[in-house]
Amino acid sequence: MSEIVIEAKNLTKQYIKQKAVDNASFAIKKGSICGLIGPNGSGKTTIMKMMGGLALPTEGSIELFGESEEKKLARARSRMSFMIETPYAKEVMTARENLEKQRLQKGIPDKKRIDEVLETVGLADTGKKPVKAFSLGMRQRLGIANALLTRPEIMVLDEPINGLDPEGIIEIRELLKKLNREEHITIVISSHILSELSLLCTDYIFIRNGLIKRTLTADEFKKECAECYHIHTDNDPLALAVLTEKLGITSYDVDKDGSIKLYERLDEQRIISKTLFENGVIPVRLAVQEANLEQYYMNIVGGDDNVEHNKGTELSDKA
Ligand code: ADP
Repeated sequence: MSEIVIEAKNLTKQYIKQKAVDNASFAIKKGSICGLIGPNGSGKTTIMKMMGGLALPTEGSIELFGESEEKKLARARSRMSFMIETPYAKEVMTARENLEKQRLQKGIPDKKRIDEVLETVGLADTGKKPVKAFSLGMRQRLGIANALLTRPEIMVLDEPINGLDPEGIIEIRELLKKLNREEHITIVISSHILSELSLLCTDYIFIRNGLIKRTLTADEFKKECAECYHIHTDNDPLALAVLTEKLGITSYDVDKDGSIKLYERLDEQRIISKTLFENGVIPVRLAVQEANLEQYYMNIVGGDDNVEHNKGTELSDKA
């Protein structure tokens, strides 16, 4: 069993006019990249603020590294970094100068750490360029560099991909994957756009109106909404044997009715049906099931009159 590093138990945040988070319980595993997904105003930032001690729960509790007592929570938070809302940086200063300022403020003795984090986030060659000349993607990478200074075991990032162009989205996604893979950093990341996180996360928590609607792993998510080739034949067990043995297929699922979902070789449908046929299997139904992130997202957190449907899988509660 994976170690749980963050656990929310009946976490609630009641503001005067509204409940931002409502009885939320969830657990985040060590080494995971956990996506907190929901429309704007659904409570993602408030949950992250409660993790960081920037907002106090009105009910329930949050456990960090197994600690829930206030003093021990502070120590646990020193093993984490938080990037909540747009990262702050001095516009006239360079990336290095900004990080040097942060290094001194955080009391980090190791000067070389700045070179390391600049290298890690791909800003090592920005030289004398002031932050005011940075793209949004570069600013986000600087924010991540800043968060990395203390060598955190967990990074909590609030909408770090918001507003980035497709290239910027890929850069941040690859950077976060690298940090997770090579530095073993557990990442908690929020977004209101499912497609931004769908190629990144190992686990998902869907939230709407402060309520946790669904938690699932990437594997479960993939099975529910990834593009696949859905095959039903007159002899599904034999079909599966043919697919695995003759075509070497390894990425598949078998549905309750025995039909098969293939997640690979989707562009080789003719070869697949021919091979099945030649091996005595008669296909009854062969259909490409398209990935439909938008519909999936709507099914979980949508379906309300107040919902305004924007581009892609983006939703907003704010009119
Ligand atoms: P998200 O990050 O998903 O956009 P937030 O956590 O920022 O959502 O907000 C959840 C709800 O709580 C929103 O309706 C928001 O207006 C409200 N809220 C957030 N912060 C405060 C606050 N400091 N005071 C009062 N209401 C707040």
